[in-house]
Amino acid sequence: MNFEQLGLIKPILDALKTKGYEQPTPIQQKAIPPILEGKDLLGSAQTGTGKTAAFAIPILQNLTNKDVSRNQIKALILTPTRELAIQIQDNFQDYSTNLKLKSMVIFGGVKQHQQEQQLKRGVDILIATPGRLLDFISQGIIKLHHLEIFVLDEADRMLDMGFVHDVKRILKLIPAKRQNLFFSATMPKEIAKLASEILVNPVRVEV
Ligand code: AMP
Repeated sequence: MNFEQLGLIKPILDALKTKGYEQPTPIQQKAIPPILEGKDLLGSAQTGTGKTAAFAIPILQNLTNKDVSRNQIKALILTPTRELAIQIQDNFQDYSTNLKLKSMVIFGGVKQHQQEQQLKRGVDILIATPGRLLDFISQGIIKLHHLEIFVLDEADRMLDMGFVHDVKRILKLIPAKRQNLFFSATMPKEIAKLASEILVNPVRVEV
């Protein structure tokens, strides 16, 4: 199985070649096709498996194919820590070098001015930690009414770090009709319950 066989468009294939990726990892082989079809997905995968590319690549392709509201937030990736948020943003940057989509990252613990200025210039894909996102939403700086794709990354760590309440608040603020992708390294009961509240007929992928 190679990336061409997954049905990816040339600008993305070229970016993957530049990165030196020769073939998709197991999670990418299993997750990319259903995500491209617009399905919800429940993925059990650890960091290091290539799970970030498994959602970033098909999100970029889907948004490229129906890029109607340019520079409005159409995909939101929630992740528990600043470090993970930055890594995810690096992935999106790498795979979108030949595309017109803009991605950016916001997280707490730093002044908001620079993030706010960047948001004002418009963004298609937002990677965020929950607290800073809620801050920006409550200030009216971020609006999510164009959102089409919602990703919850490292859901088990979200729970451990006490972010589940914030996640639930965010879910109430985004359009009900959307594609949902949910990733967790482990699936304890509470996480399975949260997944069942978010996902609609999900494809299940385990690696
Ligand atoms: P992740 O699990 O998303 O944190 O990815 C772990 C590492 O694997 C990152 O450094 C990625 O750049 C790299 N990676 C992801 N997909 C591939 C691939 N298909 N081939 C080679 N490296 C990859």
